[in-house]
Amino acid sequence: MSLTFELNPAIKKLPVYLPGKPIEEVARELGLAPESICKLASNESPLGPSPKAIEAMKNALNTVNLYPDGNAFYLKEKLSKKLNLPSEYIIVGNGSNELLELIAHAMLQPCDECIMSQYSFAVYPIVTKLSSAEIVMTPAKNYGNDLDAMLKAITSKTRIIFIANPNNPTGTHLSEKELKNFIEKVPQNILIVIDEAYTEYQTTPPDLVPLIRNNEKNNLVICRTFSKIYGLAGIRIGFAMASPEFIQALNKVREPFNSNQLAQVGAMAALDDTEFLDYARNVNLSGLEYLQKEFDKMGLEYIPSVANFILVKVGNGIEVFQSMEKKGIIIRPVNNYNLPEWIRITVGTEEQNIKVIKGLKEILGKNNI
Ligand SMILES: *Cc1c(COP(=O)(O)O)cnc(C)c1O
Repeated sequence: MSLTFELNPAIKKLPVYLPGKPIEEVARELGLAPESICKLASNESPLGPSPKAIEAMKNALNTVNLYPDGNAFYLKEKLSKKLNLPSEYIIVGNGSNELLELIAHAMLQPCDECIMSQYSFAVYPIVTKLSSAEIVMTPAKNYGNDLDAMLKAITSKTRIIFIANPNNPTGTHLSEKELKNFIEKVPQNILIVIDEAYTEYQTTPPDLVPLIRNNEKNNLVICRTFSKIYGLAGIRIGFAMASPEFIQALNKVREPFNSNQLAQVGAMAALDDTEFLDYARNVNLSGLEYLQKEFDKMGLEYIPSVANFILVKVGNGIEVFQSMEKKGIIIRPVNNYNLPEWIRITVGTEEQNIKVIKGLKEILGKNNI
């Protein structure tokens, strides 16, 4: 039945975010046990959350009758110490996805422009369109963000530039120097969003926090998340860093209890468990190395990655996705990113990575390698 009322016109053309298929759904379709399914489609941690985070969340279960601390006081205190950045420079969100949306709310009006790269995170166009603003897409350079092209795309209507570093879905990255040069050149009236969802996977990631800490760049926001290396995607928690004035603006547009109590205590415990963090980084690094080495042997083109996923060229991405799914391995076709010949594979455990390579060899007829 068609709607008898008009929607906000911004919603009509809005793309719906396509998530990876849930394990249970694939298990049901294949008649397999959920435990036998290997999900490497959404860049989730294959290691689960830190055992300390699980314990902390269990202990907090008895008090979920109470509203959470809407201001996430203790989590912000902990982040503040860790980042050497006062709490007023930090906001906590229901995943960093929410923070991207809050940023758009706080910034955009119809006809404003947002610059993003050709192969960039699917949420940037969504939050832009949600605010009736215009997407200005710059061509990629070697599949990554082309900073010069982004500078050239600036007009009097530009309000936000979105950059994921490392970039999703390509796994490419920019250096601290490249980013700092770029930030220096962007006019102060344009907000630069650096989305660092995968930064912890890098052994020496760029550090842009000093630009915020020293009040050098009031037009910079850095977003981070507990969804990736910390393994807390299901509980939805992330944070952003910016000038206290901009954080205050974001606080105005968020709902009062936007991050839940379990997420806050889970995130705090996860931050403390640095041993688990190092372990997760190392598992990922050796997984990446293994996958890239195997792709080399198979003669498959891939984009060298510093994140917890890798883009590899397989011919028909959708077909390979479907064949892999039949084997109980869920990976991600990226035709929605206009990369129909590629698939994106999340780095799994050693066992999962071996399974992925075995599956790909069978499907691509490279079994004799
Ligand atoms: C996964 C991801 C996020 C994280 O989203 P959450 O809402 O924090 O789970 C943000 N940005 C990029 C580029 C991502 O790939």
